[in-house]
Amino acid sequence: MFPTSVTELPFPDRTTQFDVELRKVFKVFKGETAVRGIDLSIHRGEFFSILGPSGCGKTTTLRLVAGFETPTAGEILIQGHSMNQIPPHRRPVNTVFQSYALFNHLTVWENIAFGLKLKKLKRLEIEERVKQSLIRVKMEAYAHRFPSQLSGGQQQRVALARALVNRPTVILLDEPLGALDFKLRQEMQVELSTLHQDLGLTFVMVTHDQAEALSLSDRIAVMRGGKIEQIGSPTEIYEYPRTPFVADFIGDTNSFPGRWQSGDANTIEILTANGLNIVVESKAGVGEQIMKSQEAIAIVRPEKVRLSLTPPESKINCFEGRLKNVMYLGTHVQFVVELLSGDRLTVMLPNTVSKLPDPHTPVYVFWKPTDCLALQE
Ligand code: ATP
Repeated sequence: MFPTSVTELPFPDRTTQFDVELRKVFKVFKGETAVRGIDLSIHRGEFFSILGPSGCGKTTTLRLVAGFETPTAGEILIQGHSMNQIPPHRRPVNTVFQSYALFNHLTVWENIAFGLKLKKLKRLEIEERVKQSLIRVKMEAYAHRFPSQLSGGQQQRVALARALVNRPTVILLDEPLGALDFKLRQEMQVELSTLHQDLGLTFVMVTHDQAEALSLSDRIAVMRGGKIEQIGSPTEIYEYPRTPFVADFIGDTNSFPGRWQSGDANTIEILTANGLNIVVESKAGVGEQIMKSQEAIAIVRPEKVRLSLTPPESKINCFEGRLKNVMYLGTHVQFVVELLSGDRLTVMLPNTVSKLPDPHTPVYVFWKPTDCLALQE
């Protein structure tokens, strides 16, 4: 039989290396399918992010793990134990909500003790647990302050302490930094990453912010229309997106739809709709698939493209055009180039020049076959 309180759980089940598993999970709301057969395995201690545009089903997925929603089909396991019949308060997970959702009229201590009091735990146990949680997030000295007397980072620590007090195995983070301004958000990302390392727990975070997912996560699942489009490390997702959707959603990209022209399993030549010949050195197997379907999209990231005022030596992936726009961004400069073919291309270069070229200047853009990808729709 499954234990009745999170403190009695027989976790971890050493037969599994996963803290969270979703097996063919579906969720249908009144005819609308929010989650369409998700399979997911999250390792113990991992920082895992679920990323995707609004409405893709990421919050529903997190709520299914928390137990706030019941799957229409499929199974959810935590450390090898099925959670389908377990109510939220008996699951070894705790959720940190957007902007931390602290009670402003309660002190730090009272905020953390709140849930334990509701559960009617004994006073001594509450005191011990709150104290331990505060120690874990290094906030013992702030127990008697109110949230408004804390910095953003300290509030984040309190929100985590409030989750930790229930001794969860997994912390669920629902857009935790969603409402913060850019600067504070960046600071909080560093804090969150440090806390994850210090605590050694599994973090599962939902976000629509690709930069946040890339900087914090061990692995990312990119969702689209209730399905997972790709799972991988930040580098895999960014450097080797498997679909045009992932390439476009994660970072900026230049896309050229076209057709297979020639090549073998690893190197292919794509003729774009506007007559550009793009040579791509692909990962094993990709070339064969594209040869079969004939359709392909060549993509190249703005920072992989080089820019020159004079013709470069290599003619491979080298195209002539004019600067359409030059945007100074501090550390980088962004150029929009209009090619003779009519295509527009964004180029991002580190800001190392003293004088920026004027718009309309004739330029050459070029990149290596290893710096671009060929994808299928
Ligand atoms: P956002 O970033 O905007 O929060 P999301 O990716 O988290 O989006 P979900 O909140 O999971 O998306 O919603 C997925 C789909 O399911 C949406 O079309 C939404 O309208 C629908 N949905 C979610 N919750 C319910 C509900 N309780 N009843 C009916 N439909 C719902």
